[in-house]
Amino acid sequence: MQVLITGGAGFIGSHLADAHIKRGDTVVALDDLSTGREENVAHLKSSGKFKLVKGSVLEREIVAGLMQDCALCYHLAAAVGVYTIVEKPLNSLMTNLKGTEVVLELADKYRKKILLASTSEVYGKSNKFPFREDDDTLMGATDKSRWSYAYAKAVDEFMALAYYQEKKLPVIIVRFFNTVGPRQTGRYGMVIPNFVRQALLNEAITIFGDGHQSRCFTYVGDVVEAVMRLAETPQALGQVVNVGNNSQEISIEDLAKKIIELTRSKSRLIYIPYTKAYPLGFEDMERRVPDLFKIKSLINFQPKTQLDEILELIIADKKKKLGDLYKY
Ligand code: UDP
Repeated sequence: MQVLITGGAGFIGSHLADAHIKRGDTVVALDDLSTGREENVAHLKSSGKFKLVKGSVLEREIVAGLMQDCALCYHLAAAVGVYTIVEKPLNSLMTNLKGTEVVLELADKYRKKILLASTSEVYGKSNKFPFREDDDTLMGATDKSRWSYAYAKAVDEFMALAYYQEKKLPVIIVRFFNTVGPRQTGRYGMVIPNFVRQALLNEAITIFGDGHQSRCFTYVGDVVEAVMRLAETPQALGQVVNVGNNSQEISIEDLAKKIIELTRSKSRLIYIPYTKAYPLGFEDMERRVPDLFKIKSLINFQPKTQLDEILELIIADKKKKLGDLYKY
């Protein structure tokens, strides 16, 4: 089977490509390399089953050609990371709205199954925990540009559901909850790659706010397994499904301490007020916990990889990447 992964050179996309190739499929990755990186997929070139097409989901002709040839499309291409969204809100909105519009329109034209990546950000500041797919959402004001990502992804979900309802397009929507693992970069704000890098270099660990905000982190390998199985599950069509980890919720301050311990780092913690950490237009979420009832009933999914193990894998990957910068 040929699989199209938009955003296939990105962090999650490249792991998904690995898994499909391992299963014997052919993968075409479409990526504009804005946040994706060629090095994430360089090892796949020798498989003879992988092709990287450098281009954007906004380029209709390119998407049309690739859509025709595939049996299944994962739409992961998006402007991601808090820094990207806050610093380039216009570009982010265009990619996240228009890009999805193009992908859905062409999937419909060629009648291809689509799995659309959405985000736990759509739950916004809701304080009803855990977050269930049919819960109300509570997004922030439009003058805080961080929320433009959540609003755009929510509209993407509406579009996909409308295609499902009106055109019977086979779509599945997944909401990712803090997916982490090797290859994720801290460049766009993600906390674990940043903390691990800082710890390995014995630099101060930058906690934004008081560090009491918490997250549940999900290993990318578990996420990949979940989406591949959902894509093969007829009952998942037309559904919005949380993909995350509901155990091992941890505060950002405790996460920093854990990373210091695991890396035997000499780093100290510093607390940076949000106003300094991000440009104007930011607002954080205090907690984020997924309800996994739906994914459990659809594919009997339970994330396997525990936080310590995830961190060890990330630390090993980061040490390799830092090379000479990291001194034992
Ligand atoms: N964060 C932090 N220091 C950093 C990067 C992030 O304290 O260097 C915090 C951030 O403010 C948020 C949490 O870590 O509360 C998770 O951030 P991330 O961007 O990884 O994911 P989010 O859950 O915000 O999408």
